[in-house]
Amino acid sequence: MTRFIFVAGGVISGVGKGVATASLGKIIKEHGYTTTLIKIDPYINYDAGTLRPTEHGEVWVTDDGGEIDQDLGTYERFLDQDIPKQNNITTGQIYKAVIDRERRGDYLGQTVQFVPHIVDEVKQRIIKAAAGYDIAIIEMGGTVGDYENVPYMFAMKAIERELGKDSVAYILVTYLPIPGHIHEMKTKPTQQAIRLMGQEGIYPDFILCRSQQALDEVRKKKIEVFANINVDRIISAPDLASIYQMPLNLEKEKLGEKILAHFGLTSLKAPNLTAWQKLVTAITTPAQKVSIAIVGKYLDLGDYSLIDSYVSIYQAIAHAGAQLNVGIDITWINAVEFEKNPEQLHKLAQFSGIIVPGGFGQVGVEGKIAAIEYARTNNIPYLGLCYGMQLAVVEFARHVVGLQGAHTTEVDKQANHPVIDLLPEQRQTMASGDLGGTMRLGSYKATVKLDSHVAKLYEECGRISSDEGVMTVHERHRHRYEVNPLYVQQIETHGASFSGYHERADGTTLMEFFELPEHRFFVSTQAHPEFKSRLGNPSPLFFGFMRAVRDYAVECKQKQNVEEAMPIRADKITELSL
Ligand code: GLN
Repeated sequence: MTRFIFVAGGVISGVGKGVATASLGKIIKEHGYTTTLIKIDPYINYDAGTLRPTEHGEVWVTDDGGEIDQDLGTYERFLDQDIPKQNNITTGQIYKAVIDRERRGDYLGQTVQFVPHIVDEVKQRIIKAAAGYDIAIIEMGGTVGDYENVPYMFAMKAIERELGKDSVAYILVTYLPIPGHIHEMKTKPTQQAIRLMGQEGIYPDFILCRSQQALDEVRKKKIEVFANINVDRIISAPDLASIYQMPLNLEKEKLGEKILAHFGLTSLKAPNLTAWQKLVTAITTPAQKVSIAIVGKYLDLGDYSLIDSYVSIYQAIAHAGAQLNVGIDITWINAVEFEKNPEQLHKLAQFSGIIVPGGFGQVGVEGKIAAIEYARTNNIPYLGLCYGMQLAVVEFARHVVGLQGAHTTEVDKQANHPVIDLLPEQRQTMASGDLGGTMRLGSYKATVKLDSHVAKLYEECGRISSDEGVMTVHERHRHRYEVNPLYVQQIETHGASFSGYHERADGTTLMEFFELPEHRFFVSTQAHPEFKSRLGNPSPLFFGFMRAVRDYAVECKQKQNVEEAMPIRADKITELSL
């Protein structure tokens, strides 16, 4: 029988409810129970594919091709477990399903209403996503007072009514502000959040108190009285240097055991977070630091939303760094700058690695190509992700193969040499106006060349399988254009290698990896490997890139030391000869 934990926010959103939910999942798993995490997004969009990335952060892609808000990414990074798209429930999906059913005549003349039809649909979806797991944790977006959350609160109560109170736990994640002018932590907003929840007939079983600092006993007592729950169910969750510290802190507060006890369960195994702790220490206090540049298209963004739009890349770098005990300074460079001021390109020499991430459209494309050329010709480690691979192919075609005017038809429809192009049937679908139908979305299998850099990395990270001697790997995709098969052979005869490909049912091969075997590290992929990177199980390509970055940084440092030491030695020699 599945138990349900509902996580709701109080006071304000954006205080780390997603990280709290993911951390809880991690702990439950550590105690020996199977778990899955479900996210409710109360917006009307059907999915996140059409949301503005600068407002909502990047679009997360699941194995089964879902385009989802980034919380599912947080879940996977903590749980090291694939989460399917059915684990994201939006208001748009709920209403669409009910209205479609009504149109089909499935309700047989009934009046279709908020209660029971909408609430039932929510409930069914939660139960379906939770099926087969010991414990399902459901995070409700926004906060408890939001009007748009009403159907979800009804659904929670319906599940509680059906399964009994022992099978359901409610966790309120709240925020306790410390106003700057009084330096005192305030519990009032939390008291109000508890009251709001109560108005819906829901009383929290646990309260997770997010704040800049840890909660003191006085405040715990105050909340105890207000919420009418025992003080040991009020959990302090102060700000942390790394989000990955949260499971460690919650475990210290024995939250796992307490929740299990609430369900009448006990631990099936003793949690072992030693390896996790080691990785967290490597993130917060790494043995050494390296600098990399991410050359992308950044529009009207402040620092915060910048990282938010590339959160998975940022996390994948952190995971690889943690594994290698290397900290990373990231400089985000707007590719357009290199178009305006090409003389700035040499500044890339100060970085030990360069990434060109995914992207769409023509803004900054020539700047990205220039940065890729710089990495290639100066033997600086390079990782190209999706657009970063397509533009690496364009750069190589133009400057090494000598195909003047080589381009992607995404930017230049009349390109002399369309090395990146749409497949013929995509062009047909697009002509009919269906843009959505032309995206390659979700997980695809690639066959990799045995002796390639790519194959070795997947093997080293334990992410390669052998299909009767054929080596295959899986990565997630979200793009429209492909390497034009007509140019593959010509490009390869000039020293580059398409080291992996996907074979479609009709026999067409789609290039998945592009590498330069002679280069220190020049690897790029049509996929988004950042979506399958987890703490403790890093993405092979990010791992290989970060290791090359570390080695290159060490090499540069040694060279610099020798150069700095040289004149002194020369002086000494002069002195000696005197
Ligand atoms: N714009 C490119 C395409 O659609 C790359 C997309 C991406 O980088 N995600 O194929």
